Amino acid sequence: MQRLQAFKYELRPDGQQQRQMRRFAGSCRFVFNKALALQKARYEQGEKKLGWLRYRNSREALGTVKNVTVSLSGGKWFVSIQTEREVEQPLPQSTTAVGIDMGIARFATLSDGSHLEPLNSFKRHETALRKAQQAMSRKTKFSNNWKKAKARVQRIHFRIGNTRRDYLHKATSTISQNHAMVCIEHLQVRSMSKSGAGSTEKPGTNVRAKSGLNKAILDQGWFEFRRQLDYKLAWNGGYLIAVPPQNTSRTCPACGHVSKDNRQTQAQFACVECGFEENADLVSAINILRAGHARFACEVSDAVRSPAAGTRRGEPVPAD
Ligand SMILES: [Zn+2]
Repeated sequence: MQRLQAFKYELRPDGQQQRQMRRFAGSCRFVFNKALALQKARYEQGEKKLGWLRYRNSREALGTVKNVTVSLSGGKWFVSIQTEREVEQPLPQSTTAVGIDMGIARFATLSDGSHLEPLNSFKRHETALRKAQQAMSRKTKFSNNWKKAKARVQRIHFRIGNTRRDYLHKATSTISQNHAMVCIEHLQVRSMSKSGAGSTEKPGTNVRAKSGLNKAILDQGWFEFRRQLDYKLAWNGGYLIAVPPQNTSRTCPACGHVSKDNRQTQAQFACVECGFEENADLVSAINILRAGHARFACEVSDAVRSPAAGTRRGEPVPAD
């Protein structure tokens, strides 16, 4: 299989190169196009290139280089090299399947009973960020002190991003190495994180709660979590299965009874039919795993069935 992979390195420009790169970059943050055009023009005029740049060789870039991106983040320069290479179709090291429920109180609850604590990287740095932003607002704009204060704000943002990325990568690596199939809800993170304010004719409900949820969702990085799980599972020979979220939180895993009364509180599930009790997030994760198994079976039988049969998905396969 073809594997597209990006390798990112920190660049180590010297003073002269830094000044040149800054001049290229201007006020833009991602500038490779502009920088490249300028670079090309200079080169055609016979001027020297930036010359050779030092970089931190944190790991080896494998494959054919497809494109190269230079970026500035948190006052540091990076080069990201995207490559393509042929790798053997991997076989999963594990045969287990797991369902994952994403949440606020727990970042992720796995159907095997384990869970991941919430990330809250933003919350942890919130005070420092607020202070730095206030300090910046008190400075005269574009003064040297303002620039220093601005750099500080950027450094905190950079740290927040790093903490989050690190956390997500560790979590998704562990999960994708330990399971061959991971089932997750189809969550419209984007629409969930939309403003709850609504319009003047139709004002939104729970504006305050939704704004809190927004912040939490964006801080958690659910979208990024899914993206990483998806490609890491593929690299390990596994599958990510997304299932519709209908009733995953209301269905009793013991007797199958579906009712919103099964969820009297946010945290606890208690079946009104058979009395089964369990942590609500774990119940959702179990239901997600079941839905994922059903979906996977459907897809496999769809693939096996001849296309001429014309049966719709989910219908029993006629026996010959
Ligand atoms: Zn029940």
